[in-house]
Amino acid sequence: MPREVKFYNSISSRKEVFTPKNPNEVSIYSCGPTVYNFAHIGNLRSFLFVDVLRRSLKLLGYTLNQTMNITDIDDKIIRESIQKNISIEEFTDPWTKEFFKDLDTMNVERLEHYPKATDSVDEMLEIIDKLKLNGLVYEKESSLYFSISGFEKYGRLSKLDISGIQTGTRYDTDEYTKEDVRDFVLWKAPKDEKERSWDTRHGHGRPGWHLECSAMIRKIYSSGIDIHTGGIDLLFPHHENEIAQTEGAYPEETFVNYWLHCEHLLVDGQKMSKSLGNFYTLRDLLNKGLSPKSIRYLLISSHYRSKLNFSFESVENSKKSLARIQNCLDKLLSITNYEIPNKKATNENILKFEEEFLESLSDDLNTPKALGIVFEAVKTINSEIENYDKDLALETIQFFVTIDKLLSCLEFSATDSIDEKVEDLIRRRAEAKKEKNFALADNIRQELTDMGIILEDTKTGVSWKRK
Ligand code: AMP
Ligand code: ZN
Repeated sequence: MPREVKFYNSISSRKEVFTPKNPNEVSIYSCGPTVYNFAHIGNLRSFLFVDVLRRSLKLLGYTLNQTMNITDIDDKIIRESIQKNISIEEFTDPWTKEFFKDLDTMNVERLEHYPKATDSVDEMLEIIDKLKLNGLVYEKESSLYFSISGFEKYGRLSKLDISGIQTGTRYDTDEYTKEDVRDFVLWKAPKDEKERSWDTRHGHGRPGWHLECSAMIRKIYSSGIDIHTGGIDLLFPHHENEIAQTEGAYPEETFVNYWLHCEHLLVDGQKMSKSLGNFYTLRDLLNKGLSPKSIRYLLISSHYRSKLNFSFESVENSKKSLARIQNCLDKLLSITNYEIPNKKATNENILKFEEEFLESLSDDLNTPKALGIVFEAVKTINSEIENYDKDLALETIQFFVTIDKLLSCLEFSATDSIDEKVEDLIRRRAEAKKEKNFALADNIRQELTDMGIILEDTKTGVSWKRK
């Protein structure tokens, strides 16, 4: 039996007990990346939030069916691919690969589905069919718009009162401001003849950005879903518009039962964003010598509904916190000679810590509280470890196995940890060379030499051995 979970639901503005439609398979959709550049670590925060949600629900006994979309068509993508004179596929494919590389570096578990917007056009057209039948669409200069005044529930998620809003004002760009309460574009007539477009029963053109998420949810789940997530900036108008499109097309259904929004990563009190230019990509941070694990730890250790201010000091603190947990685990592993337990713990203290850890996660994914429990456990273990025998050490390691299903930052084997570090350094050296950052590449080579590692550059790549 899965454990009872509570989530803060943005649509009701309160914490609610989570009741999935199908207890055997929870359906979750998360707004994903627009693949036109490297993701910045603010974007990564929202992707790591999805990872925390996934890993926590799995730990709490749920089976999941999750989707994250890849936005591979929008104004920016079209603009840049035309400028470069390449197709949008040629432009977006390398960025999509970089996105998955970042997820791997951050130990983000892969979801069940990653559909692309450009592969979901048929489903978008079907939604427009239904919306037309329900009288919610009008045409202007060959583009199709959703008429928000025809959808009574518009504003329910964002708590906007649209009664005073002038109808018939529109926006059709993918970039907008929060104050833009207007009819939004469903299907856009091309502005440039080189623009990627489709010939369809709804005219020649391409989809508006909001439509893709509604269509992909339809494509994968055929009906409404349990949980929808995204960064808080997407709550309005994007998610409000997703509800309007889907429930406007299928009025008999509830589109989403629980809306979960992740707060922003800030820099000096301002949202990290490409437009403000105050952002770091993951590779920026790795090139400065920060480890993926301390970045992961930082991004998951604050509660997803709290703003998180990024600083190098906070990464340093995360590194120290993680080292404290790892040191305690290392002491236990040296007692068991790196043997890992294969049965559940029965020791009451361990079970109590595990119970409190899981209970914290079940309360709206309270990771700071869960990590507080971990540090309490570490303190207790450290103070008693001198009296530990092998059996007790084995049982205690079980607790670390459990918490690492969320953290995914700990090392359980003596050789793995050194191998992993070497591989990581080699990868970073190769990237540095590719970017012609030879000073960094030389520094990394020196670090490896100091560790007693000899590198050999071969035709097929770099191999290594111990001195
Ligand atoms: P994009 O690639 O711009 O479509 O954004 C991908 C995801 O990152 C969306 O869920 C955004 O809400 C989220 N996001 C963008 N900036 C930040 C930030 N500074 N902190 C947290 N999430 C963000
Ligand atoms: Zn979306």
